[in-house]
Amino acid sequence: MPVQISVPVKEVIKRTYNVKSIRVEVKDPAPFHAGQFLTVTLKPGPEFKRYLSISNSPTEKGYIEFTKKLSDSLFSQALDALKPGDMVTIQYPMGKFVLDESHKKHCFLSGGIGITPLYSMAKYAADARLDCDIILLYSNRTVDDIAFKDDLCKLQAACPRLKVIHVLCETAPDFACISGVIDAAIIRKQIPDYLERKFYLCGPPGMVKAMENILSAQLHLPPQNIITENFQGYQ
Ligand SMILES: Cc1cc2nc3c(=O)[nH]c(=O)nc-3n(C[C@H](O)[C@H](O)[C@H](O)COP(=O)(O)OP(=O)(O)OC[C@H]3O[C@@H](n4cnc5c(N)ncnc54)[C@H](O)[C@@H]3O)c2cc1C
Repeated sequence: MPVQISVPVKEVIKRTYNVKSIRVEVKDPAPFHAGQFLTVTLKPGPEFKRYLSISNSPTEKGYIEFTKKLSDSLFSQALDALKPGDMVTIQYPMGKFVLDESHKKHCFLSGGIGITPLYSMAKYAADARLDCDIILLYSNRTVDDIAFKDDLCKLQAACPRLKVIHVLCETAPDFACISGVIDAAIIRKQIPDYLERKFYLCGPPGMVKAMENILSAQLHLPPQNIITENFQGYQ
């Protein structure tokens, strides 16, 4: 059963030029699973309420974090103006986009801001030392669009069973990445054991649908090995 609480902002973290994370102080959080989401209400009125994934791991104590790609909406403007001490209301946990801990091999496919629940899962798997192997294929337009870039780099260095592969439309000098967009050829080449893995897809609905089609129609993955989270509200 989700709980609703009003909590103070503890920290604001700029992830990229248009992505911000907000950490709210929750001394004794209700139990949640990595990958679940919450509703955030910044002010009265539906325009100030949004669904956002929890972007930190339940292993990190004392706060809950959510991360928003900023648009020109009233909600984004209000979130962009938040500072430590401001109060927000959250309702959590919700959703079934969580890691199947009985499975030993996973692949995360993320487009842009779809990284938020997957970062939470990767951090949780590393912190809890889960007996599993994770490959993250993370697609963005440019290197400047990569949210959690340094955190993922640190996580990968600390956790040999996590492999992060960046896929960029526009490559950057001195940055290890694959050029293009995630397609069947990239998955076959980078993840030869893809048929043994559970896939977790997250991003705008159009991108999730396209990736789901690649996995089922071209790579013949069974439906039970494809788990999706659609960020309704993004095209
Ligand atoms: C389970 C879930 C988790 C999400 N996690 C994240 C996250 O971690 N980070 C993130 O940045 N975004 C996330 N989103 C998307 C987020 O809720 C907003 O929809 C999105 O950020 C656009 O809001 P906006 O205020 O920027 O734009 P707006 O301009 O307000 O929205 C763009 C358009 O989408 C419509 N819209 C907004 N929300 C919804 C909705 N829920 N369903 C259908 N239409 C909608 C608006 O009416 C408008 O037409 C998530 C969505 C869902 C459902």
